[in-house]
Amino acid sequence: MTESGAEPTIFERIAAREIPADIVAETDRIVAFHDIAPKAPVHVVVTPKQGRYRDVVELANGDPALLAELVAVARDVAADLSDGDFRLVFNPGGGAGQTVFHVRAHVLAGGLEEGSLAG
Ligand code: AMP
Repeated sequence: MTESGAEPTIFERIAAREIPADIVAETDRIVAFHDIAPKAPVHVVVTPKQGRYRDVVELANGDPALLAELVAVARDVAADLSDGDFRLVFNPGGGAGQTVFHVRAHVLAGGLEEGSLAG
């Protein structure tokens, strides 16, 4: 159980080492691990260790410092595992594919195609 009394999310269980994952970086409040089904040469999931915020909008409103820490970890992961260029993708809302309501970001790096998202 978490401090809220809810069942822990899959990402809380990864942070607690209850579910195996290839963890590449962590801070006191953030954990980053290789995605089990990578969509890019480098695909790392970066997430708060606690599932208090269900999506990036809640996180930005509730704890902007934690969102900034998450972005800093994403930057460091992209620099460590690739050339430092990266995409940072959030998928808030079920319509965008979210099924576990625990905010996480996807770092996509390495061999990114140029396109209209550049910049
Ligand atoms: P999404 O729900 O689209 O934000 O993505 C969650 C991501 O977590 C998916 O891309 C999954 O492949 C990934 N994932 C789920 N379980 C694990 C795991 N045990 N280790 C690594 N990645 C995982």
